[in-house]
Amino acid sequence: MHAHILILGSVNRDLIVHAPRLPHPGETLRGQRFSSCLGGKGANQAVAAARLGARVALAARIGLREQGAVLLEQLRAEGVDVQAVQQPVDETPGVALIVVGAEDGENQIVTVAGSNAMVGADLVEHLPLAGLRWLVAQQELPIHALRRAFSRARDAGVRTLLNAAPFREEGRELLPLCDVLVVNEGEAAALLGRREDPVAAAAALRALGPTAVLISLGAAGCVWADAQQTLSMPARAVRAVDTVGAGDTLVGALVTALSEGQALPDALRFAQAAAAWAVARTGVQDAMPRRAELQAWLE
Ligand code: ADP
Repeated sequence: MHAHILILGSVNRDLIVHAPRLPHPGETLRGQRFSSCLGGKGANQAVAAARLGARVALAARIGLREQGAVLLEQLRAEGVDVQAVQQPVDETPGVALIVVGAEDGENQIVTVAGSNAMVGADLVEHLPLAGLRWLVAQQELPIHALRRAFSRARDAGVRTLLNAAPFREEGRELLPLCDVLVVNEGEAAALLGRREDPVAAAAALRALGPTAVLISLGAAGCVWADAQQTLSMPARAVRAVDTVGAGDTLVGALVTALSEGQALPDALRFAQAAAAWAVARTGVQDAMPRRAELQAWLE
């Protein structure tokens, strides 16, 4: 079965401890809970799409030291095609060390890029583009590799979606290579160098190169702009429990809907319902919906 969507992105091992509060410098605290799980924006978006029934492959680099093989196994178990994942035996995978303070739910995160930083020509020159509908990337990999991948995709007639998160100055050079740019309000303001109302911001972002722009607005929903239309859509109303990963769920669900040929308003409704489902539950991948449960909720 050939993939319709290829996600070129980061994979991390998330190490999460729950503490009574965040520690002060030099302080040792007793935490209550530890867990480790598959994370990184590339892996998150691939899992979001796979749960929703997309044929999705991941192009990434996962060092096999420090439990890297476990991350690969988790991706496979989610139904993500990992044939294009490089597995260097002598590298450490990306890691995110996360402390969550129970008092206020605030967190502290330190990430180490590990093998994500080593993604380069040997991966992007061999991307399996034949038969693909969409190539998706975020900005946790070297930008020069993303640029090369996007221009190859365009030459091959594959549509490109960039989630310009986290914001990086060098990421600007990718914008003319995007069919769809997805950003949240903070990333939109960083790219524009100013805050604007969302409709004006979407138009201004289109002037930087992307064919279409989606700005996500948290509980306020999203705005889409392309050459034909500007569409504002409210979010699906839920009681928010944990908004971490909302953007990754939105992107994974959006590209799933677009790759199925769903009409734009339906695709946006589908993507926002998936994101709202995730916001109403704790965890990142743990909170992502499966197709059948999302469909039932949409009806
Ligand atoms: P990010 O996680 O990248 O900062 P946003 O906060 O804009 O992105 O959220 C992405 C999408 O998730 C929104 O467009 C919306 O559909 C959904 N979402 C986020 N927060 C809420 C919320 N409180 N209630 C319902 N949906 C939400």
